[in-house]
Order: sequence, then C-alpha cells, then structure tokens
Amino acid sequence: MSVNRRFFVIGNWKMNVNQARIQEIVKRMKNSSLNPSTEVVVGCPSCYLSYARQQLPFHIGVAAQNCYKVSYGNVSGEISPAMIQDCGCDWVILGHPERRTIFCESDQFIREKVAHAQLAGMKVVACVCENLEDRQAQRTEEVLFAQMKALAGSISDWSRVVVAFEALWASGTGVLATPAEVQEVLSKLRLWLRENVSQQVANTTRIIYAGSVSSANCQELARLLDLDGFLVGSAALKQDIVDIINARGSQVTESQVSRLERVSHTMM
Ligand code: PEP
Repeated sequence: MSVNRRFFVIGNWKMNVNQARIQEIVKRMKNSSLNPSTEVVVGCPSCYLSYARQQLPFHIGVAAQNCYKVSYGNVSGEISPAMIQDCGCDWVILGHPERRTIFCESDQFIREKVAHAQLAGMKVVACVCENLEDRQAQRTEEVLFAQMKALAGSISDWSRVVVAFEALWASGTGVLATPAEVQEVLSKLRLWLRENVSQQVANTTRIIYAGSVSSANCQELARLLDLDGFLVGSAALKQDIVDIINARGSQVTESQVSRLERVSHTMM
C-alpha cells in the first residue's frame, strides 16, 4: 500500500456477459458510489469492447482480455492493439492464466504480445501465475520470477503496466489465500523488480492480487503493504465489485487492523 501508487481494480468479465448483462453491471456501477481514488477498469470480450466503452462513464477504463502481437494481417480470430484502440479502449490483459493453460500460451509468446502492445501505446495488465503444484513443490519464486523475467524483457514503459499475481490455487478452489500468503508473494515480486529492473520501478509499479477476491476478503487484503489492487473474476459480475472498488477507503475493524499490521511487520 503506497500513496504513490493509485489503487487499481480490474473486473474481468471473461466470457460471461452479453449486452443485457453489461447493461446490468454498468447500471450497478453508475448507481453506486465508487471511491474516486481507485482506478477502475473492466475486462471485456472483444465483440463488446465498443459497446462497453459507449455504456461506461469515461473514468472507467475498458480492457481487452487478449491481443495479438502485430497490428494487422492474415491472423483469423485474433485482434490487435490497433483494433482495440479503434474501439476506444486503451487497456489489455495479457498472460491471463486461462490463456496460458487453455491456449498453451508460452512466456515467450506473451512477451512478444506485451512488447507489441506497449509499442502500440496500450496499457497492459500483465499476469504472472502460480498453480497448486508449484505451490506445493515450493517453486513459487522459481515460476513467478521466470515469468517476470520474460515480461520485463518486453516492457519499455513500466508506468503503463500493472502486474497481476494470480494465485490459481485460490481461484474457484474453495481455498482462500491468507493476507500473509498474499503479502509474502507480492513483496517478493516487488523485490524482484528492485533487483532486476530498478528501485524506481519497484516503488511505482502497481502489483495487484487475483484469486477469489470478494466483498468478504477485499478490505483485509487491501491493507497489505505491497498490494495495490485486485484483478477480479467471478465477483466482477456481482454487487461485490462495488465493495472491492471501495475496499481501500472502507472502514476496517480494530482487530483486522492489528492483524494486518502484524502481517506487514513479519514481512518487512
Ligand atoms: C481470474 O480468473 O483471473 C480470477 C481472478 O478469478 P476469480 O476472482 O473468480 O478467482
């Protein structure tokens, strides 16, 4: 948590919306009081990018959930950063775990896509992921740092990148990551940036957490020292997204505060 890094929440709709559903979600967001100090973005299916952009107030960003690594050409089924921008959107999510697993996207491929998206002027939410087997085998650093290394080689402007740590072992599994577990990984990622990119990039890059974030756990997580926001999946379709956007500004109980302070001190 740093005053220099604006709290960032991206609600990824995945393949779970149509126009009617988008209207519902937009209505909910417009009718709710959203903390203006949180930067809010939605991850939208490509066919609804223009529609979502038209429906949402300008201060809410719209991200594509993927893009290809060149501007145009004979690449059936893909979209480019130039096309996303033509729909009025300037964000893209790259390296999402569902792209890595279902579509077998490699670190190298993601690196090329990030490089092209940056060159095209897009803002990127770059995901790094840890699955259950990696965690059980205590390979957290090894797998995340390898993904960070691949990404870092492709990033020309860190001020237009948000790094999302995806705890796959805590996404839709019924197991929740504890604040201490989240802080431990986020602090390692920030240290990696310090040691491998620069102190300035480590201090200013937003690192967000993904993995079953909801109304129930967002306030506690939002107090973590190295956490700058959330990438939200299923809760992005529900009323929860409002609480998650407002998590930083919300009241927390005294016992939550002292627990979080203990977590932060252990990790320092
Ligand atoms: C995700 O799949 O990126 C994700 C964060 O989903 P959920 O919030 O549902 O765990």
